[in-house]
Amino acid sequence: MADRPLAGRTVLAVFAHPDDESLACGGTLARLADAGARVVLLCGSRGESGSISDLALVPDGDLAGVRTRELAEAAAVLGIADAIVLDHPDGDLRWDDVTEFHEEIVAALHQYRPDAVITFAEDGLYWHLDHIGVHERTYTAVKTLGAGAPPLFYVTMPKGVMRKIAEAAHAKGGALPDASFWGIEPDAFGDAAIPPTFSIDVRDWVPRKLAALRCHRTQMGPNNPIAWIDEDEARRWLGSEYFRRSPLESGTAESVLEQLGEPVASS
Ligand SMILES: [Zn+2]
Repeated sequence: MADRPLAGRTVLAVFAHPDDESLACGGTLARLADAGARVVLLCGSRGESGSISDLALVPDGDLAGVRTRELAEAAAVLGIADAIVLDHPDGDLRWDDVTEFHEEIVAALHQYRPDAVITFAEDGLYWHLDHIGVHERTYTAVKTLGAGAPPLFYVTMPKGVMRKIAEAAHAKGGALPDASFWGIEPDAFGDAAIPPTFSIDVRDWVPRKLAALRCHRTQMGPNNPIAWIDEDEARRWLGSEYFRRSPLESGTAESVLEQLGEPVASS
């Protein structure tokens, strides 16, 4: 038990697309799993509207199917016990199937009875409307549990990290000339985030986080700056993951997540 202090605990992560889990908090999910927690991922869509790094990866045009399999591989790398992929329309997660998506999250909360829930913050990492939709649905779903609701945590990324990764990729002669990630400007990541209150040191889990990201081959071609960084660089820039407890839950007891974290000084 000593090396699995979180045995018997469950953490539910709710995200929008295959790869969100690895990019946003893959290190934390792997660290939780290694500590014995059962990690469950609920992914709202199959990511069928995403980019394709290499058309040869999707010979039959079924990007949804390919990305679902990529997610299963990444989940195995991270130690995720259950990765559930829902079939909501990529790109319309905020508006379509609102009731159904809500009910699926509520059902997962009842089925798994998590000790903590992780999702996007209000900013959706970079104002991605699907991410914001997942934030809204998860908040509302957790709220239905009232006083018995598990603590809900919002994950964010510090602004500037993606810029450093893009610059490192360019220094090696790689990635797109516009330094974008999937067409997104690096400084958009974390730009509007409410400051996090604690961080989790995942430097020792960075190799797994990188390996999980690279399972998402359709998203991680040579145009993506992340494909160009080495393990030392990843440890430096992706070795901490940042969270804040949702104001929804008024309990003060430290959760499984906070137990792994260190406070972030507010500036
Ligand atoms: Zn996403």
